[in-house]
Amino acid sequence: MSNIDLIDRLAADGVLAEEEFTELLATYTAADRDYAAALAYRIARGQFGTQLHAWGVIDLTNHCSKDCFYCGLCRSNEALERYRLSTEDVLRCCAEGHDLGIRTFVLQAAEDPEFGDDVADDLIWRVRKGFPDSAIALSFGERSRAAYQRYFDAGADRYLLRHETADAEHFAQLHPRRSTLANRIRCLEDLKSIGFETGCGMMVGTPYQTPLRLARDLLFIADFDPALVTVGPFLPSSSTKFTGSPAGSVEKTLFMLSLVRIILPDADLPVMTSIATAHPRGREMAVMAGANVVLPNLTPPADRAKYSLYDGRVTLGRDAAEGLTILMKRMAAIGYT
Ligand code: SAM
Repeated sequence: MSNIDLIDRLAADGVLAEEEFTELLATYTAADRDYAAALAYRIARGQFGTQLHAWGVIDLTNHCSKDCFYCGLCRSNEALERYRLSTEDVLRCCAEGHDLGIRTFVLQAAEDPEFGDDVADDLIWRVRKGFPDSAIALSFGERSRAAYQRYFDAGADRYLLRHETADAEHFAQLHPRRSTLANRIRCLEDLKSIGFETGCGMMVGTPYQTPLRLARDLLFIADFDPALVTVGPFLPSSSTKFTGSPAGSVEKTLFMLSLVRIILPDADLPVMTSIATAHPRGREMAVMAGANVVLPNLTPPADRAKYSLYDGRVTLGRDAAEGLTILMKRMAAIGYT
């Protein structure tokens, strides 16, 4: 069966066998990629029309107790200047975003011991109370089921926790021994069963990734059926164990994004900052490959550069307003509002 036939069958059935996904990922050509992107683009246009959603991201803290081998925020990166926003700072960011028309806030945090469940719970309550017409998405990492339940009860709607890789051996090659894929999956299942619109996702091009391991990501996504998926390239950070590893391929990232769109026609697929960092037209290319959400950054400009997961993380504009204006102009140039 040709790769085009496999992509057509994926569109018809929503899944392929592991060896078929592996074969597709090991042998696809530029023509196959274009075919998948065109199909994914048509699906997204059919679902969402020419409107993109803008979710305002606020990076709350870069203090982290974890030591993930790929991440510039890892605990052992002593060179990083650490910061933590106060609840008042976050409410100010939300107010600024709300004035600009943003109605989804993504509160994202490294795994900061000072940002415990009581602080998180209080923050969510206050954002919920201050902005009753807006959705709240969280990305606070691995926490207990009881904590997730508290956040949900406090008014959060969505939770994004990348599974990172659905292959346990690969997960162990990317994280210190006390982090496990089993716990990551436990978190995702808890979040979904509590009622969160739950998101998973992965980097493309991490060290030790293979076509088989990417195939397992697609099988996991098809089975878990998340409400949103984030896919972005791995980009090296000069202060991690993976310093000097090559960056993930933009083309392969876009191919994976298109395959995810074909598997999940109505899921939210955000354009990640990593793809915008990896390619000057990354945002536009991701929308043309099936993405439907853009992520303007509402973090105070003075702190934005410190949330440095990888080297050279780009942000648009000097502040939130300028960033949103530039983003709107660029998306208008490809036919989107
Ligand atoms: N602690 C939360 C969590 O684990 O979801 C949120 C913060 S964590 C830094 C957010 C995501 O950044 C991770 O899921 C990871 O996929 C991504 N990330 C970290 N380092 C990266 C890198 N070098 N290149 C691309 N993405 C990276």
